[in-house]
Amino acid sequence: MTTFEHALELILHAVRPLEVEEVETHELFERVTAEDVVAPHDLPLFQNSAMDGYAVRTEDCMQGTALQFGGFIPAGAEIWPQLEEGNAIRIMTGAPIPDYADAVIPLEETAEDPNGGIRNLLPVRKGQHIRCAGEDVQLGDTIIHSGTPIGVAEVSLLAAMGITSLRVHRKPVVSIVATGDELVPLGAPIAKGKIFDSNSLALAAAVRASGATARILGIAKDNISSLKQKLREAVNADALITVAGVSVGDHDLVRESLANLGAVESFWGVDIKPGKATAFALLEGKPIFSLPGNPVSALITFEELVRPALLRMAGHRAVMRPLVTAVLQESLSKKPGKVFFARVKLKFEKGRFLAWSSGPQETGYQKTLLNADAFAILPADRTIFNVGEELRVQVLPSLQGTDAK
Ligand code: AMP
Ligand code: MG
Repeated sequence: MTTFEHALELILHAVRPLEVEEVETHELFERVTAEDVVAPHDLPLFQNSAMDGYAVRTEDCMQGTALQFGGFIPAGAEIWPQLEEGNAIRIMTGAPIPDYADAVIPLEETAEDPNGGIRNLLPVRKGQHIRCAGEDVQLGDTIIHSGTPIGVAEVSLLAAMGITSLRVHRKPVVSIVATGDELVPLGAPIAKGKIFDSNSLALAAAVRASGATARILGIAKDNISSLKQKLREAVNADALITVAGVSVGDHDLVRESLANLGAVESFWGVDIKPGKATAFALLEGKPIFSLPGNPVSALITFEELVRPALLRMAGHRAVMRPLVTAVLQESLSKKPGKVFFARVKLKFEKGRFLAWSSGPQETGYQKTLLNADAFAILPADRTIFNVGEELRVQVLPSLQGTDAK
C-alpha cells in the first residue's frame, strides 16, 4: 500500500503540461498561461483626470481669486487647449491632462464666482486627482506569470493592455469508463438488483470543474474483453479514469485488463480513507486513474489525486487547493494507519473557521458529501480529534456564502 503523499508524488511526476496553443483573449477565460506576459506599454497609457472637474495650476489656486474658464477636455479628446495662467479647464474623468496643469479640482469642490469663473472651496494639493502614465503598470513589467489561470481580473488587464491573444496550454481531454454488471445508464429502465451509473456523470462534472473536457465512454461489463475494448477506446484521450473494480472481489478485473493491454502500474492501493482501492498506471504514456466504485470514494479520490494531475496537465503552477485552519466543534475519531478525509461543514465566526462533521462519515452516505464545505485532513498516525483542536482543511468550491441581510 502506498502512502497518500507518495501516491500524489508519483502521479505528479508522471504527468506534464500539454502542448501550447495561441488563443484569442476573447476565449482565454479559465485557460492557463504558457508564458510570462510582459506589459507592452504603460498603464495608464497617458496622464489623465481621475475626476470630473477642473484642470488647474496649484499656484493659481492659492491667490483666492476666481479662475477663468479656459476650455473643455472630454474623455477621448485628441486635441485640447493648453492651460493659460489664471485659467481652469473643465475636464472629464479619463480625459488627458493639459500642459501646465498639475491638479484637478473635483466639480463638487468648486463654486461659481459671482463675477464669472470658478473658485476652489478646499485647498488644492499638487498632483491631486491626476493619474500618471504607468502608475499602475509599467512597460516591461511581468503582469501575469506562466502557469496562471486566466480569471476575470486577468482578462480585464490583458484587454486594457491591448493584448489580443496569448499562448496557453491545451485543455486535457479525459475519458471516463464505468465498470460493473450492476450498472445501468441514466434514463434506461432499471431492473431489480441494478443501479444507475452515477459515477460517470459525477466524474464528468468533476473533470469539467477542473478545467478539462470530459468524455463519457459508458459502461464496461465485469469481464476482461468488455473492459479491454473500452480501455482501448480511451487511449485517444489525454487521460483515462476508470471507476470501480479495483479491489479484490472476483469481478475486479480492471487491473488484469490494464496489464493485458501493457499498462505500466505505478501503484495499486493507497493508505487513505475513503479511497483505499485507488490505482494509477500509464498506458502508452497516458495516465490512467482507477478509482473506487463507491460514489463518495470516487469523488474524494478524484479531488485528492486526479484533480492535481489534470491541473498540472493544463499547465497550472499551483495544483493543490488552499488550506485553512479550522477549529473542531465536535470530536472525531478514526482508525490509525490511513489519512482520513473527514467531510465537514464550516462557519466563519469571530475571525476563524469552525468545523463540524457534515454527517455520518461512512462512505455510503452521499448526503454527507453533499453537505460538506471542506475536507478536514486527519493525519494517518492519529486516532482521536478533540473539540477545540485546530485542523487543516481544504475548502471546497461548494462553500456557500451567506444570504444578504
Ligand atoms: P466496486 O469498486 O466495483 O467494488 O464497487 C463499489 C461500490 O460502488 C458498489 O456498491 C458498486 O455498485 C458501486 N458502484 C460502482 N460503480 C458505480 C457507478 N458507476 N455509479 C454508482 N455506483 C457505482
Ligand atoms: Mg464492481
